[in-house]
Amino acid sequence: MNQSPDVTVVGAGIIGLTTAVAAARRGLSVTIVADERPGEASPAAAGALAPSIETDTGPAHDFGVAARDIYPAYIEDLAEHTGIRVPLNRLGVLQVALTPAGVKGLRKSAQPTAEWIDRKDLSDIEPTLSHALGAMLNPDDGAVDNVALLRAVAALIDKTPVITRVHDTVQSVTTVGAHSVRVKLSSGKSIDSANAVIAGGAWSSLIEGLPLLGAIIPARGQLVAYDSIGLRHVVFGPRGYLVPRMNVEIIGGATMENVGFDNSTTPAGIDRVRSSSAEIAPALGAMTPLRSWAGLRPVTPDLLPLIGPDPERPSIIYSAGHSRNGILMAPLSAEVVATLLSGERPKDDLSQFRPDRFQGRF
Ligand SMILES: Cc1cc2nc3c(=O)[nH]c(=O)nc-3n(C[C@H](O)[C@H](O)[C@H](O)COP(=O)(O)OP(=O)(O)OC[C@H]3O[C@@H](n4cnc5c(N)ncnc54)[C@H](O)[C@@H]3O)c2cc1C
Repeated sequence: MNQSPDVTVVGAGIIGLTTAVAAARRGLSVTIVADERPGEASPAAAGALAPSIETDTGPAHDFGVAARDIYPAYIEDLAEHTGIRVPLNRLGVLQVALTPAGVKGLRKSAQPTAEWIDRKDLSDIEPTLSHALGAMLNPDDGAVDNVALLRAVAALIDKTPVITRVHDTVQSVTTVGAHSVRVKLSSGKSIDSANAVIAGGAWSSLIEGLPLLGAIIPARGQLVAYDSIGLRHVVFGPRGYLVPRMNVEIIGGATMENVGFDNSTTPAGIDRVRSSSAEIAPALGAMTPLRSWAGLRPVTPDLLPLIGPDPERPSIIYSAGHSRNGILMAPLSAEVVATLLSGERPKDDLSQFRPDRFQGRF
């Protein structure tokens, strides 16, 4: 084990892994410390890349759009270095209207980039949505296969000699003087490095010594997978969404529940997801899901991540609490954090992600 890397990354979800790669590319040595936890968000997610629908206004919205738009190059680079081509869907995301009030609401809230598709055109492009009154198309949004993405990033890490992986549980993170961070592990070992990046997902608040992360709580999401019905676009309905994966499956999601760290599925939760899925594509109403699962989103009160250095201990950098959009934001969050680790100023506006914005509230 490299006992004194330049950077220790806590967490091996999509945020920790992409950050480790971005830091290594800037010439830094990295140790990733993580254990395995039931309900990790990154493999559980649906993989929608939908900043037009999901992220906030202002710089956070711009960040989401920029994050979406670096995906094609990111996927290309992964394919070049690992031979793994991660499926990426950029067909645009449809928001279906099922009632006249729904049409009105969608027209009112549409992004300037969105385009209304009337009933006839909608059933031409997506025959399984022919019951809808129309849909708003959000161009360039879409989805990535997050399971394949994790596999590809992990393969790249395996091929990167300056990254070491340690399987252990982090107990505490403290600073030692002004220029060093100590990460203490359950095994009794500890790692000292110039910087630590905290990417512990929904469990971040349980790590001792990091009170700013008290704002992050788990929010359970239950999902189901169906056989494909030929749907090609990601579709959002009034109560849920459908994400086609590889023309083989469709993922229907998702609940948003405050039940602590319990990642089990429940009959009521799965019923709700099945019903919101069938509301979008009625053909799914007659189908039995192939499987169901649940994951724990790392959620903050405003659903935006905490990204940036601890204001009082700048050698500790946070990248946690990506809530509903961590897959979308991962490659850009990683780039921003690697920029900070190199002592440079990121060009993206991170003001809405300030790690101390909930200080004193938790
Ligand atoms: C049901 C569901 C649907 C979703 N759909 C989408 C979507 O469509 N689009 C989208 O962009 N996002 C989606 N998300 C959100 C996205 O999955 C998350 O925001 C993102 O995966 C968070 O990644 P992470 O690396 O922070 O956390 P995780 O993937 O949960 O990883 C956390 C890591 O930290 C480790 N860890 C934690 N504490 C410790 C410790 N003390 N010691 C050692 N290791 C530790 C864990 O072992 C794990 O490796 C969804 C999430 C869920 C649950």
